[in-house]
Amino acid sequence: MSRLRAQDRLKAALQGYYAGLTAPVAWCSSVGPAEILYALGFHVYFPENHGALLGASRTATPNILRAQREGYGEEVCSYLTADIGAYLAGETPLTGAYGLASVPKPDLIVYCTNQCHEVAEWFGFYAREFQCPCVGVHPPRYVDEVSESAIAHVVRQFEDVIAAGERVTGARLDRKRLAEVVDLSRRGAELWKQTLETARSTPAPLTFWDSTILMAPIVTMRGTQACVDFYRETLEELRQLAGAGTAAVPDEEVRLYWEGMPIWGRLRKLSDWFAECRAAVVASTYCNSWVFDCLEADRPLASMAEACTRIFINRSEDAKLRILRELLADYRIDGVVYHDARTCGNNTNCRFGLPRRLQEATGIPFLTLHGDLNDLRFFSEGQTRTRLETFAERLRPRGGPPAHREEGFPSPNQIRAR
Ligand code: SF4
Repeated sequence: MSRLRAQDRLKAALQGYYAGLTAPVAWCSSVGPAEILYALGFHVYFPENHGALLGASRTATPNILRAQREGYGEEVCSYLTADIGAYLAGETPLTGAYGLASVPKPDLIVYCTNQCHEVAEWFGFYAREFQCPCVGVHPPRYVDEVSESAIAHVVRQFEDVIAAGERVTGARLDRKRLAEVVDLSRRGAELWKQTLETARSTPAPLTFWDSTILMAPIVTMRGTQACVDFYRETLEELRQLAGAGTAAVPDEEVRLYWEGMPIWGRLRKLSDWFAECRAAVVASTYCNSWVFDCLEADRPLASMAEACTRIFINRSEDAKLRILRELLADYRIDGVVYHDARTCGNNTNCRFGLPRRLQEATGIPFLTLHGDLNDLRFFSEGQTRTRLETFAERLRPRGGPPAHREEGFPSPNQIRAR
């Protein structure tokens, strides 16, 4: 039995999701307009989730090499290369885990470049392969604040997605159904947010390592009642654990923030190493990326456009700094761990000075770890473990919690004066 009952329920929830992937199937990028596709009557499949599964099942590396032999570069997104390599090899971890003979064949492919350009290349490969209609949504990138004109621009592109979907299904979009799906997405996302927020408790009842597993329904099943039901029960369990003072990391001493992609093939090891350092990773940008709290059933397309444009990965460096600063305060963070993922510059936020600026604004120190989401050739176990132990030792409170936990952040002048 798992530490959390939710982890045991997860397998059944995902079993139901994968069993339901029958025609018509639409493929969608992870923060694309899945609600429209559900409302049009498609079952929705997410290739990025498949990329993560390849990483977590430690089958990514041979498939990455397979894609590289087809001409994909070494530093191209390793979700893309692992996924395309597995397709070319005729393999999928869905066979062993859920009994699927192969990934489901798409009738429509939709992607959104709010996260990166790579999804266009990735999904375009499959559009050629399956001779399938493919529609891209391109919101403005690197936005500071989301404007009304940006929302209108994205809504117009959603209308193109709707038209393409209607051509495939031969039926008009039911706008009432769309509002219902958006409402289900909003409720699922709200429950997911509250689940993550249970880690504000000290000690935290769940960590980033738990959340990377528990997030599967909000990624693959948002917009469904099954997703809402899963997180309602999960939240109840986590609140009980928080109320009872149950710690995910026994003797939690240090509270950390994880910035960047997970290292899917090393989740267990990293979880153990952080626990040995009595360091609980209590919050992350990654898991918060599926908190869509601006969705509204009575303005479905506009609120979806807002949600997909304002995701963290699509924001300016200044906006990212503001968001991180708030999260560090909310979760009473002692240190930030940045993952510099070799094949995903898009979701790596430590290459343009952000860590130093955030440290100046908050006084909270940081550590950068080098690795990758899927390509373990870029990850050094020995170096990572040593650097983590040194960092945790430096943060460990002597005679009480670090000052910023109790007093709020110091001003930049106070920090400079230290
Ligand atoms: S955001 Fe990064 S990991 Fe995700 S699809 Fe784009 S390049 Fe790949």
